[in-house]
Amino acid sequence: MSREFSWRTREANLARMRGETFDVLVIGGGIVGAAVARDAATRGLATALVERGDFASGTSGKTSRLIHGGLRYLRDFRIPLVRQSVRERDRLLRVAPALVVPLRFVIPVYAGKGLRTWSLRLGLFVYEVLSRERTLPRGRWLSPRDVVAEEPRLSPEGLRGGGLYFDACADDARLVLAVVRDAAEAGAAVANYAEAVELIRAGERVAGARVRALAVGDPFEVRARCVVNATGVWLDRLRGGGEGHSVRPTRGAHILVPRDRVGNVDGVALTAKRDRRVMFVVPWGGWSLVGTTDTDYDGEPDRVRPDPDDIAYLLESVNEAFPDARLTPDDIASAYAGLRPLVRREGRGDGASDVSREHEVFEDPDGLLSVAGGKLTTQRAIGEDVVDLVCERLGLDLASATRDRPLGPAMTAAAEFRSIGFDDATADHLASRHDPSDLRMALEEPESRARIDPDLPYVWAEVHAAVHAEMALTLEDVLVRRLPIFYESRDQGGSVAVAVAARVARLVGWDAEQIQAEIRGYATLIEEHRAFRRDPRA
Ligand SMILES: Cc1cc2nc3c(=O)[nH]c(=O)nc-3n(C[C@H](O)[C@H](O)[C@H](O)COP(=O)(O)OP(=O)(O)OC[C@H]3O[C@@H](n4cnc5c(N)ncnc54)[C@H](O)[C@@H]3O)c2cc1C
Repeated sequence: MSREFSWRTREANLARMRGETFDVLVIGGGIVGAAVARDAATRGLATALVERGDFASGTSGKTSRLIHGGLRYLRDFRIPLVRQSVRERDRLLRVAPALVVPLRFVIPVYAGKGLRTWSLRLGLFVYEVLSRERTLPRGRWLSPRDVVAEEPRLSPEGLRGGGLYFDACADDARLVLAVVRDAAEAGAAVANYAEAVELIRAGERVAGARVRALAVGDPFEVRARCVVNATGVWLDRLRGGGEGHSVRPTRGAHILVPRDRVGNVDGVALTAKRDRRVMFVVPWGGWSLVGTTDTDYDGEPDRVRPDPDDIAYLLESVNEAFPDARLTPDDIASAYAGLRPLVRREGRGDGASDVSREHEVFEDPDGLLSVAGGKLTTQRAIGEDVVDLVCERLGLDLASATRDRPLGPAMTAAAEFRSIGFDDATADHLASRHDPSDLRMALEEPESRARIDPDLPYVWAEVHAAVHAEMALTLEDVLVRRLPIFYESRDQGGSVAVAVAARVARLVGWDAEQIQAEIRGYATLIEEHRAFRRDPRA
């Protein structure tokens, strides 16, 4: 059965927000806000979620796309973080099998380059022990010859051996969308392009927020008994004088480069040439996703772009590890950067190590609950933690219901896609992204089974699904987060943007002026993300 989740759903949800008083208003539609809303709604709380841009348009759509325990955190003995991450990874593999898929990793060890043999061996052992569910195959130690057999294009020079282990990966924006949709299915009123411009108070206590929503007129009040601030790196903007915690952003950049040039078979964890930090090369269809950097950021969080130094750092590292790759900036299909909302605690030093990668929930004197930090992987546990506190504040005794709740499309879907006329390759592609019911309603549309770009698996029916079943409101929503053509096409979707805009216009009723504005906005986005090419450092 198809469930509409469109601009019409959004309008109805915004109308609900004007009229109802909610148990909880969640501000921010990244993975953290989405997970809080899902946990609250599935416990039966009256829940609203507002996101000022598109869902996952902040950090949560710009990650390394790993659902992982974080093997590298064992180096700093962050056992509780790794234990929680491993368990949530295993849980996601079980409840979201179409969205979250296993990924095999090789981690080579070289003489004098960062990692030591004994510490990696110990790390791999502890990593296995921490996985209670044993959802993934066991890892093992590899001799230098085994490493080369697994990843023949890795540099053999100084190779001491390596580890083979398993983690998982997911399309981050689609994971966020699945969590948001599940929250909505459980009764939450959710809306993208709806910004909380200020908090409203009853006496000294926060009692909701004034919300300005795209295309619905004047700002209006959304009333709630409890307000959760899940705005990531924007967290401090909403807090009125709350002290003790704040967010310290660091920037992480990624590039997508042709996989046949890099030659990685599976995932590879390597150490960066410049500072020997652990970074990843992740297979992503025909591309290798390479990331990430980690640098302090004090610029404007709204417009984070990869800079030439990020690009140089990533290229020199991947070229060192895979010497035949010889990548240059011209080989990069796309690049992106996001900000980690790391929590800084008052009274600690200023170094990067004084900020936590674990999530923190804290309460201001006016009752505002803020949550920051954590990982894409641990989203469900973060949601549970926050809503436990919400329930405590509301005097309710309701248990979390998300531990075993299915998420995203069912795994049996590929055969169904074939039965409605998609070829094998397209059916496999669609099965990892959609519920067949979301595409069925598009099948009468012209060319619905045809590819949008001949080099990529995305079909026109998915544009229809983006608009009707995934609340895409803009051309950028469709081409960046619903169908990631922005990342995976050599021209970042520039050559299909006009046709896609025309199709969306027909579905939602844009006029000629709006179509032009959407196309211009998308062209600017591409240009900004390619600006690094003009700098000789890259
Ligand atoms: C480079 C990088 C790589 C990473 N890789 C991984 C990985 O591979 N695996 C993993 O598990 N974790 C990873 N992480 C960590 C993880 O991605 C983040 O911790 C997580 O996405 C943070 O989610 P969030 O919801 O707090 O923030 P965000 O996703 O930024 O969400 C906050 C949202 O709030 C909205 N907002 C702001 N102000 C308002 C307002 N006034 N009203 C309404 N909405 C508002 C913003 O538009 C934004 O969408 C990575 C992080 C980075 C930076």
